[in-house]
Amino acid sequence: MASEQTFSPLPPWQRSDYCGAIRATDEGREVALWGWVGARRDHGGLIFIDLRDREGIVQIVFNPERANEAHRIAGEARSEYYIAVKGTVVRRSPATINAELPTGEIEIAATEARILNPSAPPPFPLTGDPAAEDVRLRYRYLDLRRPEMQRNIRRRHLAVRGAREHLDSLGFVEIETPILWRATPEGARDYLVPSRVNPGRFYALPQSPQLLKQILMVGGFDRYYQIARCFRDEDLRANRQPEFSQIDIEMTGPRIEDIMTMGEGMIASMYRRAIGVELELPFLRMPWSEAMDRFGSDKPDMRFGLELRNLTEAFAGTGLRVLADALSRGESIYGLAIPAEYQLSRRELDEMVEWLKARNGLGLAWVKAAPDGWQGPIARHLDETARTRLTEAASLVGGETILISAGPPSKVRPALGDIRLQLGNRFGLRDKSVMRFLWVRDFPLFDYSDEEKRLVSVNHPFTAPNPEDLDRLDSDPTGVRALAYDMVLNGEELGGGSIRIHNSELQLRVFEKLGIPRDEARNKFGFLLDALGFGAPPHGGIAFGVERIVMLLCGTDSIRDVMAFPKTQKAVDLMSGAPSEVGTDQLRDLAIRVTS
Ligand code: ASP
Repeated sequence: MASEQTFSPLPPWQRSDYCGAIRATDEGREVALWGWVGARRDHGGLIFIDLRDREGIVQIVFNPERANEAHRIAGEARSEYYIAVKGTVVRRSPATINAELPTGEIEIAATEARILNPSAPPPFPLTGDPAAEDVRLRYRYLDLRRPEMQRNIRRRHLAVRGAREHLDSLGFVEIETPILWRATPEGARDYLVPSRVNPGRFYALPQSPQLLKQILMVGGFDRYYQIARCFRDEDLRANRQPEFSQIDIEMTGPRIEDIMTMGEGMIASMYRRAIGVELELPFLRMPWSEAMDRFGSDKPDMRFGLELRNLTEAFAGTGLRVLADALSRGESIYGLAIPAEYQLSRRELDEMVEWLKARNGLGLAWVKAAPDGWQGPIARHLDETARTRLTEAASLVGGETILISAGPPSKVRPALGDIRLQLGNRFGLRDKSVMRFLWVRDFPLFDYSDEEKRLVSVNHPFTAPNPEDLDRLDSDPTGVRALAYDMVLNGEELGGGSIRIHNSELQLRVFEKLGIPRDEARNKFGFLLDALGFGAPPHGGIAFGVERIVMLLCGTDSIRDVMAFPKTQKAVDLMSGAPSEVGTDQLRDLAIRVTS
C-alpha cells in the first residue's frame, strides 16, 4: 500500500482527457489522467499499466530512467487502484500496435504518478467473461466498471434521451406524478407504504401512472409524458423486476394510428441516438385475431415463418377418433407444418407430445408427409382424401412434419405458438441481429377467467371498447374488441396502450361487467368518475418498457444488465441487503406490528 502518501480528498492535478478518448492525433500532447489500474505488466525495467475510465483504456508506460518516482509508484499499484498519471502521448512502434483498442496506436509515457486510493483485491476479474451474477450484484460498483455495463447504461441514457427529443419535438410536456399515491389496477399486487400521520392508512406505490395521466388530460395538458418508475409486487419471473421504468405517454384526441405513428417515431429516435441504427418505418400492423391465428401469440416473433394453420375444416368428417370428438365438442384443430429442411428426431417429437400434455392436457399428433409415403402414429388413419385436404389446408410441398392439436382456440393456439418458438430456437431462426417490429391492435376488451369465474380486463379497466362493438357489451362481452394496441419486437412486447373511456357512464358499465358494482366503483374510483364528468376530452396513450427496449437494443438477455442496481429474483438488493428489518420504534410510530 502507498502508506507514505498523505490522504487528500482532492486529486493532485486536473484531468485533461479521458483515458479511452486519446487518439493518434494527440501525439506529442502532455496529458493528465485519472483511472483504475487494469492489467499491469512488469517487464523488469519497464512497467505497463492499462489505465481505465468511463471512455475506455489506454496503455501507460513507466520507464525508470525517465521518471524514477512514477515508476516506483507504478510498481506499488495493483488491480483497481485509482491513480493519477501525467505523461506524453507517444506513437507505439508498429509491432506493438493493438488494432482492437481505439487507443491502440499510442501509449502514454508517464512522467508523474500518484496513487489516489488503493483497492482491496477485486473478487472477480473485470475483463473477460462476467462472474456469477450474485457476486456481480453484491459488488455492483465493480461490476458497473466493466466496459460492457458502462456501455449498456450509457446506451440506456442515450435511448431515453432519444425518446425525450422525439416527444419534445411533438409538443409533449414532461410532468412528474406522485410515487406516494393510491392503488391503480394493472394486474399485480401493490407495494404499500404506511402513513405515520394517518395511522392504519397506506399509500400504494403506482403500478403505473395510468389514472394520473388520464386526469392530466382532463387537466388540460393535452400531451404528457414521463419517464415513470412503476412498482409491481409480482412473483418474479426471469425478466421482471419489482420496480422498472416506463416511457409513459398520454394525448388528447388521438386515433389509434396517431399513437402508432408517434410511438414508432419515438422508438426510431431511440435506436438512432443509442446505436446509430435507422429503423424502417412504418412498422407492420396486425389485428390481434390474425396474430393469434397465424402465430398463436399476441406478440408474434416475425423473424421466421412456421405459421400455424387452422385445419378445422380440413378434418371435418375425419375418421380419427380424438379429432372427431374434438370437432363434435365444437373445438378447433390447428396444425404447424415443419418444412423438410428442419428435421426433428423421433425422441424430440415424443418429448414435444409429453411437454404439451403436461402443459395443459392437450394432445399432440404428428405425421410426416414423406415423399415415399406418409409416416407417423396417425398416418394410417389418413386416407387419400384426408391427405389431399391436409396438403391443401397446410400448403404442403412434401417432406413436412405436421404437428396437429385440437382444443378450444384459446388453449390450442397459444400452445402451438409456444411450440413454434421452441422450434425457432431449436433451428436457430431467432437471429438477434434481425429486428422485426410490429403493432398488434384490436385486442379483445375482456377475457373470461376460469379461476375467478368472471370477466377480466385484457388491458386495464380504463380501455375503451371499439364503438362498432358497443352493442355487444352485454350479449357477447368477450367478442368486443378494445381500442388497444401493443408494439412488439422479436416476440417481446415493448409497449402497450389504448384509447380510454372518457365517459363516466360507460366507465361504470365496464366496471359492472368486471364485477365491480356502481357503489364500489364510486368508492374506489370516484375521483376518476368525477373528473370524467367535467368535460374530459377523448384521450389515449401508451407506455413503453425502458428496460425491455434497451435490453434488446444492447443485445443482452437480461433486463438486469441494463439497470444500474437491479434486484434478484427474490426482490432483494444484494449490495445493500434491502429489504431489511426495521426497529420496533419505527414500527410503533407507524402503528404496525409484525406477526410473523
Ligand atoms: N398503464 C398501461 C401499462 O402500464 C399503459 C397504458 O395503457 O398507457 O401497461
